[in-house]
Amino acid sequence: MLMGIVHMPAYTDYWGKRTRYPLIADLMPLKRDKEASIGLGGKVVIALCQTIRQKPAIIYADNFFMSLELTHILREEYGILSLGTIRTNRLRGCQELLPTDQQMKKKKRGSSAQVVCNKNKLAVVKWNDNKVVTLISSYIDSHPIETIKRYDKDEKKKVHVECPQIVKHYNKHMGGVDLADMLISLYRTPFKSHRWYLGIFSQLIDMCINNAWLLHKRDGKNIMLKDFRFQLFEGLTKSNKIVKGINATEDIGEDLKIHKPVSVRPTDSVRFDDKGHLPEAGDETMRCKYCKSGRTTVFCIKCNVHLCFVVGKQKRNCFRNFHTK
Ligand SMILES: [Zn+2]
Ligand SMILES: [Zn+2]
Repeated sequence: MLMGIVHMPAYTDYWGKRTRYPLIADLMPLKRDKEASIGLGGKVVIALCQTIRQKPAIIYADNFFMSLELTHILREEYGILSLGTIRTNRLRGCQELLPTDQQMKKKKRGSSAQVVCNKNKLAVVKWNDNKVVTLISSYIDSHPIETIKRYDKDEKKKVHVECPQIVKHYNKHMGGVDLADMLISLYRTPFKSHRWYLGIFSQLIDMCINNAWLLHKRDGKNIMLKDFRFQLFEGLTKSNKIVKGINATEDIGEDLKIHKPVSVRPTDSVRFDDKGHLPEAGDETMRCKYCKSGRTTVFCIKCNVHLCFVVGKQKRNCFRNFHTK
């Protein structure tokens, strides 16, 4: 549908009879008159929210996404409560009932003002914290107002500032988003590509790594993020893989090998599977099952055959050679 430079389809074309695009049309229903007003950000939120199974759920978003319509639709149509910052040009008239940002700035730090719509169950709150922030929620408003500690530039110390409940909730939960951004910026996977979606892919992987690290730390493992990433790299590249021999002891000559074994050998699928073939010291000295002349107490615990391992000038590693094709 989007191939070549034709025309960009109208948003509603995705649901059209002839132009239906199942990837989007199946994902979210077209509630044209309602959802057309929520903008791209809102549509993304709704598409993502369709995957939420457990309800009631609460979602948090910043002002790129939030609008009165979205907050309302989420609550009424999807049973999802929300809280987020909102741009003042999206207030649909309720800015008339609130002081302007300029008026708010003149008030003392921590003061707030709110408008509540009981019919649509929405609350919009303005709060003055050096900068004026506006928030919207379908489940919480200013009350109860608490106090928080904030650094005061003029007094050069921490002071108590009044803080509406909606702000407390927002900071508590959006803090996670800021933290995620911060951690990703520390060690970002460099992934410059013309294929734009690879950037999203690497972002997702970085997020997974950071979340894994946070869980690891929660378990009491104190490790730096950088070291964690190295460990992860080592683990993923080496575990379940065979380290191919560097400086491996040379195999013995063909004439010294046993070619027609008398006693039983493990089948090749076991012998060469590179799992759990560990040496153990036996009580008896037995003949090596790889070379013709060696005698040893060392045997493989999996194959249960004796194999010699000789160090020194005449070094010989029958144990390894027996298990390598
Ligand atoms: Zn041997
Ligand atoms: Zn073995």
